[in-house]
Amino acid sequence: MPDHPPAHDLFTVPAGMPARSALTRDCTACGACCSAPDIAALHKPLGVPCTHLQPERPGLGCLCGIYEQRPQVCRSYAPDWVCGEVAPLPTLEQRVRRYLDIYGLSDALPLA
Ligand code: SF4
Ligand code: SF4
Repeated sequence: MPDHPPAHDLFTVPAGMPARSALTRDCTACGACCSAPDIAALHKPLGVPCTHLQPERPGLGCLCGIYEQRPQVCRSYAPDWVCGEVAPLPTLEQRVRRYLDIYGLSDALPLA
């Protein structure tokens, strides 16, 4: 029996949130976190890919065009259970929708 409870596992899906996909523990450059949330430091609105996000390329995914100069908010972001929910989806649009669904923000998107 450990003396302390285990540290919070960022890859455990929270209670009440059904996991639809295998959990992903590494960033696969799916582009969702560079597209779905609004990022004030980049003047990036919700649901719109960052202007620095490069188009998806086979085997590489969506890479940051200013990786060495990216702002602190991007440097601080770490993969978690949400990656397992969004990264396996086939298109960036689907990943963004799922990401925003998870956070209850998809209603804030402009109508397609
Ligand atoms: S959502 Fe997760 S897997 Fe996708 S780019 Fe961001 S950190 Fe990487
Ligand atoms: S600056 Fe780079 S890491 Fe940050 S949101 Fe844009 S593409 Fe993603």
